[in-house]
Amino acid sequence: MSRGSEPVDLTYTEEELEFRARSREWLNANVPRDLRSGDTAEGFAQHVEWEKRLFDARWAVVSWPERYGGRDSSLWEWLIFEEEYYRAGAPARVTQNGIFLLAPTVFEYGTPEQQDAILLRMAAAEDLWCQGWSEPGAGSDLAATASRGVRDSDGGWRLTGQKTWTTRGAFCTHLFGLFRTDPASERHRGLTYFLVPLDADGVTVRGFQRLDGDEGFAEVFLEDVHVGDDAILGGLDDGWRVAMSTTGSERGLTLRSPGRFTSTAERLIELARERPLAATPALLDRIVQAWIDAEAYHLFTLAQVTGIVAGRSPGAESSLNKVFWSELDVRLHTAALDLLGAEAELDGPWTRGFLFSLAGPIYAGTNEIQRNIIAERLLGLPRK
Ligand SMILES: Cc1cc2nc3c(=O)[nH]c(=O)nc-3n(C[C@H](O)[C@H](O)[C@H](O)COP(=O)(O)OP(=O)(O)OC[C@H]3O[C@@H](n4cnc5c(N)ncnc54)[C@H](O)[C@@H]3O)c2cc1C
Repeated sequence: MSRGSEPVDLTYTEEELEFRARSREWLNANVPRDLRSGDTAEGFAQHVEWEKRLFDARWAVVSWPERYGGRDSSLWEWLIFEEEYYRAGAPARVTQNGIFLLAPTVFEYGTPEQQDAILLRMAAAEDLWCQGWSEPGAGSDLAATASRGVRDSDGGWRLTGQKTWTTRGAFCTHLFGLFRTDPASERHRGLTYFLVPLDADGVTVRGFQRLDGDEGFAEVFLEDVHVGDDAILGGLDDGWRVAMSTTGSERGLTLRSPGRFTSTAERLIELARERPLAATPALLDRIVQAWIDAEAYHLFTLAQVTGIVAGRSPGAESSLNKVFWSELDVRLHTAALDLLGAEAELDGPWTRGFLFSLAGPIYAGTNEIQRNIIAERLLGLPRK
């Protein structure tokens, strides 16, 4: 089969339509309103409460196996659920670094014991995971990771180092991150992927504010933190390969499903209808283009899912998603602020959404880095 040649079936089966109706009905009846930001201690607790309700009703992780709290739903049904989730105005998932980033890697690389120990508690929002990738000297250049793991004479490992920009680190219970376990190694080699409880001796978590004033970030300091061998995900010194599986999920479809953007585009159209005087022809063109782009992303992801179902991994293609969704999000929110004019300063959701959209081209690997990946790995251009 050649790459990307599968026809995309745009029709829904009876079961899928029924699944959509059931999820819509439940979400409409249950979605909470007026939660505080999930990047504050109080708001995070409210979000976790909501995620527990999702879990109890088995909507938290629909595509996972039933024994881990899912419904064994297909990827198509997961996409449908995501569309309905955002259409209903449900809050962004504070468990996302666990369920959308770590979990696919645990399914791929975890031992059966690790899967049993991690996945159900993650789905139930009992264990809350944060991502310990970035360090003061390793952002875009993740291979410069300096945190290290040293074999403990009594067995297991001692972890030491500093992680930064850890989203919601101050509120989470566990961290996944890379540590250099082969001291003689350089760059991508000799790194190991560890799973670390944040209440372990030697861990200090210090939350700090983002641009919008919320305590959304944390620095995590590790000093001689003991973990067992079962804290390693994938092989010893094989952390880079395992981490690339996580970044594929982070950049691609899993973290940012199209429903998030198509629902924002629908809200933007509503806003334009409510403000016919503000919607100048030039602004209307931008709004229509942003709506078209959201639909284009939707169709692109349907093609991607078709490929995944046919057994093909998106690989470096997830960098295309990342550049597209992050820049689209900025365009959608900028158009909304232009419609609102001076009132934008009084409008919480669009202004907050705009501020967060500005971070999109940075997190999950900056867009400059994604363009390098697209140039080298998808287009085959020379590195220099
Ligand atoms: C909202 C948000 C949430 C985040 N959450 C987390 C988290 O939970 N866990 C975590 O580990 N990290 C997190 N990060 C950190 C994020 O991963 C890093 O900010 C990102 O990888 C960039 O690293 P840096 O900030 O060190 O910038 P640098 O790597 O110092 O880059 C600075 C600038 O140089 C450019 N640049 C660097 N190298 C190249 C190159 N080779 N070619 C072209 N341009 C280049 C970059 O594109 C960027 O514009 C988050 C960031 C944000 C904004």
